[in-house]
Amino acid sequence: MLALRFYGPGDIMIQNVEKPVCAPGEVLVKVAYAGICGSDLHVYRKGMFVTSTPVTMGHEFAGVVVEVGEGVAAVSPGDHVIGDPRVSCGSCQWCRRGLDNLCPDLGFIGEVSPGCFAEYIVISPEKLLVVPPDLDLRLAALVEPLAVAWHVVQKAGLSANTSVGIVGAGPIGLLTLILAGIAPAGGVTVVDISSSRLDVARKLGADRVLSAFPHQSSDQVDVVVEAAGVKDTLWAAVKWLKPGGRLILAGLYEQKVELDFNEVIAKELSVAGSNAYDIADLRTAIELLSSNRVNVTGIISHVFPLREAEQAFSLLTSRDKRALKVLLAP
Ligand SMILES: [Zn+2]
Ligand SMILES: [Zn+2]
Repeated sequence: MLALRFYGPGDIMIQNVEKPVCAPGEVLVKVAYAGICGSDLHVYRKGMFVTSTPVTMGHEFAGVVVEVGEGVAAVSPGDHVIGDPRVSCGSCQWCRRGLDNLCPDLGFIGEVSPGCFAEYIVISPEKLLVVPPDLDLRLAALVEPLAVAWHVVQKAGLSANTSVGIVGAGPIGLLTLILAGIAPAGGVTVVDISSSRLDVARKLGADRVLSAFPHQSSDQVDVVVEAAGVKDTLWAAVKWLKPGGRLILAGLYEQKVELDFNEVIAKELSVAGSNAYDIADLRTAIELLSSNRVNVTGIISHVFPLREAEQAFSLLTSRDKRALKVLLAP
């Protein structure tokens, strides 16, 4: 079968590999659509999170169960599923409560074990969630990033008069914008340097879009979601907050970032990290999509056949910022 393999920074290749065998207690899934995530770009550029090479990349997928191993009863052939790609110890105090995202040993498929940028994946049934058969599998592939954004919105603790600023109109920033639209929020402003991304943000309901951070204190907001993961934007995000405001960090950094914490103290800001999602967030994301409460179609900018995955990565790492969520179709 075809798979996209990571060999080292900037070194990825579509290759023919053995189709995985479905052992007892495991499930073989035919991948229908797999999304390229910001963290896949961190892997591609820097080799972050990868424990051994080569590894088949990818952790966001929707597909169809084709075979179940002996003893598997939770899913059956023909079921439409999405994956919970978190790989955790399963026994620490956080894993036992379903908070695998806080597991000290947390990793993801596609980084610490074979991922989903492949025609098939073998996975444990506990790591699959069944989705309704009438949910478009393209949208189902967005359950995972939608769960990330749902987790962010929970951390933000929005209410009807909370003004929200979103830094970065990539998939996570835009999904956060969509979810802020169904949560009570008192106006959402999106900042990004790309005019095409800001156009999408406007279409998705942003009250205001800006190509640079505002400097007036009257423009300050209660909550800033930092979804760019860029060093320079973090300080601007802190300055953008009202006294007593809340900063949610949702973008991962490729380098260490310095911050003047006196500003955090002076304004009594709360700073919270948001790491992936818990199992309840994944279930909520499925529910939001299958009930049509949120429409994420506008986030999908491209669908590439898996054999053209290398071109998809070139597009996503180019200066052309029109690409948002790019799906691979094996
Ligand atoms: Zn992801
Ligand atoms: Zn654990």
